[in-house]
Amino acid sequence: MSGSAHKKILIVEDEKDILQLVKLYLEKEGYRTVTASTGSEGLAQVRAETPDLIVLDLMLPEIDGLEVCKRLRSAPETAMLPIIMLTAKAEESDTIIGLELGADDYVTKPFSPKTLVARVKALFRRLERKPEDGPTRFIYGPLILDLTRHEVTVKGKEVPLTAKEFGLLEHLLRHPGRVLTRDVLLNAVWGYEYYGTTRTVDVHIRRLKQKLPLLDTAILSVKSLGYKLKEADGSG
Ligand code: CA
Repeated sequence: MSGSAHKKILIVEDEKDILQLVKLYLEKEGYRTVTASTGSEGLAQVRAETPDLIVLDLMLPEIDGLEVCKRLRSAPETAMLPIIMLTAKAEESDTIIGLELGADDYVTKPFSPKTLVARVKALFRRLERKPEDGPTRFIYGPLILDLTRHEVTVKGKEVPLTAKEFGLLEHLLRHPGRVLTRDVLLNAVWGYEYYGTTRTVDVHIRRLKQKLPLLDTAILSVKSLGYKLKEADGSG
């Protein structure tokens, strides 16, 4: 099944060669593309074109990728917009900041276009996945995760999460009381064999806890293994 037919991807990249290469490969996969070569142009294109996903370069003239990411995440209408960041290895600390600010994934330059396409597909797959058999709602104290509505609420108030944060929380809620290794979480949430650092999981867990303080003591770090969600005690 080709789900790519009507998907529109915004590519924000000031290096023309890379921009053209990414555009070419994504279009070969059936995606529609729009482009921008500066951060402010990128933000304008988000408003004008309402893309389904953004491939966002980190180092951009005017407004850089981190700031673009931050602005998109802080506006309710773009808080959930999937973002894949392009970074260089030397920018590793920025990459972590990027994940903190809400990028869903990142690809390090130099990258093969095939890798990027795989990441794009994995992210879309994750978003489009039909709820599995079983519950479509998970209740954890005052928190409700609703798969059908793709929504997390605490005491009825919606908490905007990125696609990866949502996936991570869903996976934890599906397996309360069980230790989930970082590798298991990476494969379950990122949807592919991940060759990057497992720190990605740590960053996303930290962000989940920031957005959902009630999870701060509920998600336990299990030394050198991974994470465990305490079983709900029903007192919430
Ligand atoms: Ca650049």
